[in-house]
Amino acid sequence: MLIMKFGGTSVGKPERLKKIAELVLRVPGKKIVVLSALSGTTNTLVKIGDFLLAGKKSEAEAEISQLEKHYIQYASELYTSPEYTAIGQDIVGRYFSLIRLLAAGSFDDRSYRELLAQGELSSTEFFYYHLRERKIDSRLLPALHFMSIDENQEPELEKIGERLKALLPSMSHLDILITQGYICRNHKNEIDNLKRGGSDYTASLIGAAIRAEEIQIWTDIDGMHNNDPRIVKKTLPIAELTFDEASELAYFGAKILHPSTIVPAQKYGVPVRLKNTMDEKAFGTLISDKGTSGQFKAIAAKDGIIAINIKSSRMLLAFGFLRRVFEVFEKYKTPIDMISTSEVAVSVTIDDDSHLSEIIGELENFGIIEVDKNQSIICVVGNKLAEKKGVLHDVFQSLADVSVRMVSYGGSHNNISILVDTAQKEKSLKLLNQGLFNLGE
Ligand code: ASP
Ligand code: MG
Repeated sequence: MLIMKFGGTSVGKPERLKKIAELVLRVPGKKIVVLSALSGTTNTLVKIGDFLLAGKKSEAEAEISQLEKHYIQYASELYTSPEYTAIGQDIVGRYFSLIRLLAAGSFDDRSYRELLAQGELSSTEFFYYHLRERKIDSRLLPALHFMSIDENQEPELEKIGERLKALLPSMSHLDILITQGYICRNHKNEIDNLKRGGSDYTASLIGAAIRAEEIQIWTDIDGMHNNDPRIVKKTLPIAELTFDEASELAYFGAKILHPSTIVPAQKYGVPVRLKNTMDEKAFGTLISDKGTSGQFKAIAAKDGIIAINIKSSRMLLAFGFLRRVFEVFEKYKTPIDMISTSEVAVSVTIDDDSHLSEIIGELENFGIIEVDKNQSIICVVGNKLAEKKGVLHDVFQSLADVSVRMVSYGGSHNNISILVDTAQKEKSLKLLNQGLFNLGE
């Protein structure tokens, strides 16, 4: 079984959706197709939800009507026969009456999550009926019947697997099954989701749960690139990455993949392939447990980082100090990304500032606290980088002209993380593109 995930832009226009259908048909064997909502839809649903939570009903209604117009147009372009044109308009009608029903009620967090789910529910239905119009057999495999998260919002991989194993045999005669990315049920059995961009995660969870042959993530770019193409002029796709390298890159800013995607795939060794819908022949990027080591593979950057420095003479020769510091972050459920210590001070970085003032308040009991906002982590990735001599030399020589706030190396054997002021990010990425890859700034 192959898992093929297509994102919002791949389904965003009727002609693109038709291309996907052809692409899926060209691939031999059985596949589960995972779809995102039409591009822009989830953003609009978020807007509508925010208006409704704020009690701004007429603003919400204006957004709903505009989205509805877009969907009516979309459906009318997608289907050709009168029969399916009517089905298309009926689908749109049903979704928008449900959306209006949700909007009319007392709108709460639960209705909000139900509202967000309508994007993927409708895109998959559009696709299913498009295949039907073309007389291609397929079946909708409802994500809300098998995808679930526990009370800590963690996917229940084992249960997902069991439910799929119960559902799939009755569909074993079909080559194409279609399911919704992103949406799931929570521990209260309510409709929930895997957070923004979560369709990649859905694909990976399904792939891992049923030990698929491969998880394919189809996007608009020919795989993961060695640097951020929006910032540096020349970047190259990376043919192969290890799971570890890909997780670091996804986490530290490579927008092509949702950061959690790699985890389930890696757990069961299911390869993840990134492919380009606009250029099917391009190799893309294959992420697996194999891969070369001792080589710089890619650079990614993550903005919105806050550095917190805790300076305390009590740290000198003391034990248990770091534990007490970390406990503060744990208490506020705030993950730490980078750490760097000296004998009398420790610096950590976080990207979630929702409890920053409480955290600082508690840390002040330990010593002098300094906070630097607007920082970026530049992450240089390569499997077993330490096998390559002079890696730090190469990185620092490239960045000779940049002030570096923090460095972390040796934690994972496959990354060097450097913290710089965000104002220096572009320059750093450009300098490293030339210094490490010789691809120019
Ligand atoms: N539609 C959802 C979003 O825009 C999930 C996804 O596309 O991956 O976040
Ligand atoms: Mg995405």
